[in-house]
Amino acid sequence: MEKTLFQKICDREIPATIVHEDDLCVGFKDISPQAPVHLLVVPRKPITRVALATSEDQALLGHLLLTAAKIAREQGFSDDGFRLVINNGPNGGEAVPHLHVHILAGRQMEWPPG
Ligand code: AMP
Repeated sequence: MEKTLFQKICDREIPATIVHEDDLCVGFKDISPQAPVHLLVVPRKPITRVALATSEDQALLGHLLLTAAKIAREQGFSDDGFRLVINNGPNGGEAVPHLHVHILAGRQMEWPPG
């Protein structure tokens, strides 16, 4: 099966500014930042979207959130606050069909989101 865009980034076949890497996931800068800090945390396993994750992925899903929080602490914006976003499907605004957690920080976030 052809690799997804984010698999190619995880495998360093497409350039990205990588901020975190471990056995299960990779964190990198979003190419089109929507906030002063905009990072993506992507599982190496190409789960298409959260709606298609299974109970087998439970620990991996937890790892993605814990990793996002770790990156926030390490990069120094945890105390000021940040937002995590997972877009799922057409109405959710998903553009890349490989599960990813957006980390947005560096400005006041609005609610409700657009
Ligand atoms: P989503 O709309 O939740 O699927 O988000 C996909 C995100 O991937 C968008 O914020 C894009 O800017 C980002 N993106 C697309 N291509 C790349 C790339 N080559 N490197 C980094 N981020 C990307």
